[in-house]
Amino acid sequence: MISADSFTAVHSELRAPLEPIDFVFNRNNLHSYEASVIQGLNLIKSQIEATHQPFSGILPDELAPRFLNVDIDQPLHSVADALEEVKSLYLNDAVYFHHPKYMAHLNCPIVYPAILAEQILSSINSSLDTWDQSAGGTLIEQKLLDWTAKKIGFDAKADGIFTSGGTQSNLMAMLLARDNYCVKEYQHNVREQGLPSFSHKFRIFTSELSHFSIQKSAALIGLGYDAVVSVAVDENFRMDTQELQQEINNTIELGLIPLAVVATTGTTDFGSIDPTHEIANICQQYGIWMHVDAAYGCGTLVSKQYRHLLSGVEKADSITIDYHKSFFQPVSCGAFFVKDKSKLSLITHHAEYLNPLSQRQEGTPNLVDKSLQTTRRFDSLKLWLTLRVMGADNIGRIFDQVIGLAKLSHQHYQSDVNIELIHQPELSTLVFRYIPEFDADDSNIDKANEYIRKAIFRSGEAVVASTKVRGKRYLKFTLLNPATNITHINDVMALIKLFGHEYFSPQQVLNNIDESQPHLVSMESI
Ligand SMILES: *Cc1c(COP(=O)(O)O)cnc(C)c1O
Repeated sequence: MISADSFTAVHSELRAPLEPIDFVFNRNNLHSYEASVIQGLNLIKSQIEATHQPFSGILPDELAPRFLNVDIDQPLHSVADALEEVKSLYLNDAVYFHHPKYMAHLNCPIVYPAILAEQILSSINSSLDTWDQSAGGTLIEQKLLDWTAKKIGFDAKADGIFTSGGTQSNLMAMLLARDNYCVKEYQHNVREQGLPSFSHKFRIFTSELSHFSIQKSAALIGLGYDAVVSVAVDENFRMDTQELQQEINNTIELGLIPLAVVATTGTTDFGSIDPTHEIANICQQYGIWMHVDAAYGCGTLVSKQYRHLLSGVEKADSITIDYHKSFFQPVSCGAFFVKDKSKLSLITHHAEYLNPLSQRQEGTPNLVDKSLQTTRRFDSLKLWLTLRVMGADNIGRIFDQVIGLAKLSHQHYQSDVNIELIHQPELSTLVFRYIPEFDADDSNIDKANEYIRKAIFRSGEAVVASTKVRGKRYLKFTLLNPATNITHINDVMALIKLFGHEYFSPQQVLNNIDESQPHLVSMESI
């Protein structure tokens, strides 16, 4: 059964046949560990070298049959064979974010010091819930939290915690806003007593373009989607603060309770930045919790050119940061911050076996006191090695570059008859749609743009996203790759026009009467 690859060759020197304990990572098995890591490394290298497109274009129906022959109960007993299988089931048809023509979602290419950190942190496998499972790991995380808090503009009263990402950070924010209000105004402790009778009156205000995780959080904390008031945006897709004020006043008149305002500094679609100074003033005036969702825009914290975009975030009560978006870190790597660290105790739970109160009194740092998670990855090591190897300035420069590219692309296509731009980029996204040279109704243009997105995905030559704006279908580039340049943009725009033209060609219009699926052309014909 055991094939003669180098992994088993190393093993057979040591001991044969393999015992279960031979697979455990410890000092006796460093040879096999090394051999398997090197095999994995070589596979990744050859795969990346051979990848000329961000995607193969495979459809689920084409990929799924390969899984039919895989019997999980019949192990391969060989690292080489198992890796070969991973190559066929996954790597050959993965979506590659490092490719310059991957421009779809908020997925960044990642910097290699962080990948190196992944190797270390998963090998040692510290869990960052308590000091007695992590030691120096806890201090590394805390030092990075303090560093980021300072970059935000918070003072020493601030604190934070690494999270799985923006969704968890936003959930923490809504949870703390709720519990802080209940304690402060009604001495009602939600953690102990559950939701108060007036919880159905709580309202959370956020722009119509904020991330859906705000709604999800409202649902999870027992307030429901109905608690989220969607505030209109202005012509630049930023929260309209007059509307905000109006909505808050309406709420109060109805006898409801404004709980929190969520400003988004970098909306997922447009990269638009809500006016944080004005929002902070309104929050102060009414005594409302202000949360800033900087999941996307956080990279400007280390930018020389664009740091001013986040001016005002230091006035927030809490902030969401996603290092796995604009700090070029591998998933997952995010954090949540509060201006006043005492607020984090609203979620603290002391478990006797883990983080007893006595340890807190002794001054033992147990990060689980501040987290929704218990067992937690040492994700902060990725940011640590990144900052220690590259320096924060270099992260900022990468973000500057992709923002610059979005602005340049906007200029380039401003007067293109086939490209209708819809906004001036503030960060690194570009939202636009294809329009034909002749008159066409919006529903047909919608279908054309959806057709274009699917056809490009199927071709695998590039990956672009689409979104709906005011009921109409648009295409979106999310530019996060410093290896992407204007030539790549031009290439992808050419593909967009090609498929747009194809959609409106008479034969294609006939084909599209029954099916909105792309009529697939051979890429050789391009
Ligand atoms: C991506 C995003 C989130 C969600 O973050 P995850 O890390 O995907 O959980 C929240 N807010 C904004 C503005 C985002 O762009």
